[in-house]
Amino acid sequence: PPRVLSGIQPTSESFHLGNYLGAVKQWAIMQDTHDSYFCVVDLHAITLDPPAPEVLRERTRVSVAQLLAAGLDPARCALFAQSHVPEHAQLSWVLECITGFGEAGRMTQFKDKSARSGTDSITVGLFTYPVLMAADILLYQADAVPVGEDQRQHLELTRNLAQRFNSRYGPTFTVPEAFIGKETAKIYDLQDPTVKMSKSLGEAGTINLLDDPAVLAKKIKRAVTDTGTEVRYDPAGKPGISNLLNILAATTDRGVEQVAGEFAGQGYGTLKGAVADAVVAFVEPFAARTRELLADPAEIDRVLAAGAARAREVAANTLAQAYDRVGFLAAA
Ligand code: ATP
Ligand code: MG
Repeated sequence: PPRVLSGIQPTSESFHLGNYLGAVKQWAIMQDTHDSYFCVVDLHAITLDPPAPEVLRERTRVSVAQLLAAGLDPARCALFAQSHVPEHAQLSWVLECITGFGEAGRMTQFKDKSARSGTDSITVGLFTYPVLMAADILLYQADAVPVGEDQRQHLELTRNLAQRFNSRYGPTFTVPEAFIGKETAKIYDLQDPTVKMSKSLGEAGTINLLDDPAVLAKKIKRAVTDTGTEVRYDPAGKPGISNLLNILAATTDRGVEQVAGEFAGQGYGTLKGAVADAVVAFVEPFAARTRELLADPAEIDRVLAAGAARAREVAANTLAQAYDRVGFLAAA
């Protein structure tokens, strides 16, 4: 079967609905059709505003619990922590040495994230983040990488690096394809429907999967809407309403046209009420299952250990090949 690799950062106390609809939901589907590798990318989580060590450890376990609650099954996929597989950092170095400085400087996520925080806190790690992400993917010879729309440019860089390495040193890496869904590939912030919902962005506009239901309902009712009064699916002209329609469609397993048709002629308030109900109904069992899993941290650690062992089999092999191609002597 084709191989799939994807990752998520343990950068907050909870995943948000964009992470789930844009990425994780797809992972759970793909584990039945693909040879699947999914990781919690903790190395990436210290690139910006590194959390206290005990907080990072906790967030990593919470991330794993959420992935299991979302339906990932350790028997059907390798689920691991990036830092448990040292080959990620090792391959990243080699890829950094074939990445242009200007090429890395064109990454819009770096520009966005560095513009948002103070210049003092911008690190080289944030700058080289996309190269580490390329290593994450290429180590597994992944054919497909299911991600949200915001990762398209990083995927393009990954493909370019794979092709460059292959043509310089001989065929080594599979050139991966981005697997990006449709309406849910970019869920927008409720407070600013022109920017994507983010773990590291404002709380008020983020639908966290582990939020209290009352908090969620309040966030949705306070969502910024558009001028006018009429519910219509029009992402360019009505970004706020269109975002809510996408969320409602995805959480009730319907098409967005169908949902838009149902609310045509109704007010914004009615739509928001329906979105709040649908999101709460979706999130409640998910959060309950996550808490159940978190009650047994030793089991989470066992899942990660088994996942890392499986991941290393593939990663070590690819790294050895890449090191050999570059001309590093094999260790005697
Ligand atoms: P951070 O702000 O720390 O970067 P994030 O919310 O962007 O957090 P990531 O861990 O960087 O989350 O990304 C995990 C996955 O979720 C990626 O595949 C990414 O494309 C996807 N994703 C992130 N935000 C959204 C969104 N708003 N809509 C759809 N998919 C998203
Ligand atoms: Mg991100």
